[in-house]
Amino acid sequence: MTIVTRIAPSPTGDPHVGTAYIALFNYAFAKKNGGKFILRIEDTDQVRSTRESEDMILKALRWVGLEWDEGPDVGGPNGPYRQSERSAIYAEHSAELIKKGHAFRCFCTAERLAELREKQREEGTFQGYDGHCEGLSNEESERRAADESFVVRMKVPREGVCVVKDHFRGDIEFEWSTVDAQVLMKSDGLPTYHMANVVDDHLMGVTHVMRGEEWLSSAPKHLLLYEYFGWEPPTLMHLPLLRNPDKSKLSKRKNPTSIMYYERMGFLPEALLNYLGMMAWTMPDGEEKFALEQMIENFDVDRVSLGGPVFDIEKLTWLNGRY
Ligand code: GLU
Ligand code: ZN
Repeated sequence: MTIVTRIAPSPTGDPHVGTAYIALFNYAFAKKNGGKFILRIEDTDQVRSTRESEDMILKALRWVGLEWDEGPDVGGPNGPYRQSERSAIYAEHSAELIKKGHAFRCFCTAERLAELREKQREEGTFQGYDGHCEGLSNEESERRAADESFVVRMKVPREGVCVVKDHFRGDIEFEWSTVDAQVLMKSDGLPTYHMANVVDDHLMGVTHVMRGEEWLSSAPKHLLLYEYFGWEPPTLMHLPLLRNPDKSKLSKRKNPTSIMYYERMGFLPEALLNYLGMMAWTMPDGEEKFALEQMIENFDVDRVSLGGPVFDIEKLTWLNGRY
């Protein structure tokens, strides 16, 4: 089996050091195993996504030296690599889920959903969709779809547990009763992150999904989608989030988070990449200064460390000084 990994940034701002960090681990894992590393632009949020941000992400990844094998500007057999150019694919897959009874059209108005949320807040019950439109007959759903606005939601079991197998973390259980009937397609006919991400990982042949741990709670929905489609899910691996020295989630206020900042300030890309590698990796000999080639050569997913990586510009400055 050829290992296929990917980095799937949303082009909604400056290229974030967290993107380079996740990209690095996916890159090292793919290269170590003679695999392929894909860049996919997740620009389903039409309001926040910009081409300028995409260009900067590409530039930043190249600056640190993480070149992709398939992507928006180099193409490849599994493209296009911008989700905004793949709308027809998601629409087809959504129709398939509806037909198989795994998803349904929801005609609830914003007002109804706001009232529901308010009621749930007051009662302290589960914050999520209440299944209101789930029982509509096919005929009624199709008739209303002709002139009413709707979203498509996935069906979710109401009881039992979903076991997420994370390669780093082992089995993690989620109660289905806490998982929302996720919107898959928005009223404008475009997919949400969950839908586009799962469909693309499958169609692009991604074998290993290594991403930030903030996505772990989305895994039950994703695994359920794989099941609905009858697809083999990829191996999931959730890396620890980068943190500020005070252990809070890495933020602009405490650390510059734009890769371009480090370029402008004259940091060496090798030093930044080396530092990002140190966030969840140590060389077998414990040496802190290592080049990308050395990291690849020694890379072993089972040696990835999950102990809350702290991104500290002072430490990076020290490492940069050793170059
Ligand atoms: N577009 C998501 C992000 O910006 C991708 C998450 C994932 O890797 O599944 O992080
Ligand atoms: Zn509804």
